[in-house]
Amino acid sequence: MLKIEGLHVSYGGVQAVQDVSLEVRPGEITALLGANGAGKSSTLMAIIGAVKPKSGRVIFEGRDITGTPPEKLVAQGIAMIPEGARVFARQPVEQNLRLGAYTVRDESVCRQRLEHVYRLFPRLQERREQLAGTMSGGERQMLAIGRALMSGPRLLLIDEPSLGLSPLLVEQVFDALIELNRQSAVTVLLVEQNMAQALEAAKRAYVMQSGRIALSGDAAELAASDEVRKAYLGM
Ligand code: ATP
Repeated sequence: MLKIEGLHVSYGGVQAVQDVSLEVRPGEITALLGANGAGKSSTLMAIIGAVKPKSGRVIFEGRDITGTPPEKLVAQGIAMIPEGARVFARQPVEQNLRLGAYTVRDESVCRQRLEHVYRLFPRLQERREQLAGTMSGGERQMLAIGRALMSGPRLLLIDEPSLGLSPLLVEQVFDALIELNRQSAVTVLLVEQNMAQALEAAKRAYVMQSGRIALSGDAAELAASDEVRKAYLGM
């Protein structure tokens, strides 16, 4: 569904991403993992056209979308949830969700999507009138996911959803991702530092180190491999 071929990103003299190629298959959760500064966010920024790659191509459903700006990607079926789950703090939950469907003119489509999001996240329905800024960290992350779903994406890109959340909330957020992937067949590219939990949620994974893909493969096999257990999971 999404293919990255030979991507290079640099900032001045810093080579942040070097020759990264990866594939996100339709219907799957694919994880892009690695420690701080490994180059994950730079890869994601290049995918959504927020930084210009030095070379390489981004192909979505067979079309070359390299350099297409983020606002145009929504109409093509790609939604992005940036790090930190930013929400409109002074707006109620439901209004936040509706803002995610700003490209949708048809109110009945908007309603259907709202109902779909509420089925996935009953907590958001219970809190539909609560101001988003007063939601807990985990609830805000779910709201950010729900808002992204309101644009009706086929591919969801999500940057570090576990950041700043307690282990229990991380589990809830990842369970929500698994559930939406299962129920709505939305394909997910999950960018994460939290390797243990991301490998449980994902089908396939790529591990970045110093701007390059160091390891890749089936997520369960990676989680069980000695190399990953020793180097990344501290086992
Ligand atoms: P984190 O998990 O901490 O967000 P990351 O894996 O997403 O890390 P990147 O943010 O892509 O890594 O950073 C990769 C490298 O590029 C790092 O060395 C970083 O310092 C550098 N870098 C990122 N953004 C910029 C920028 N705007 N200008 C200069 N260097 C940058």
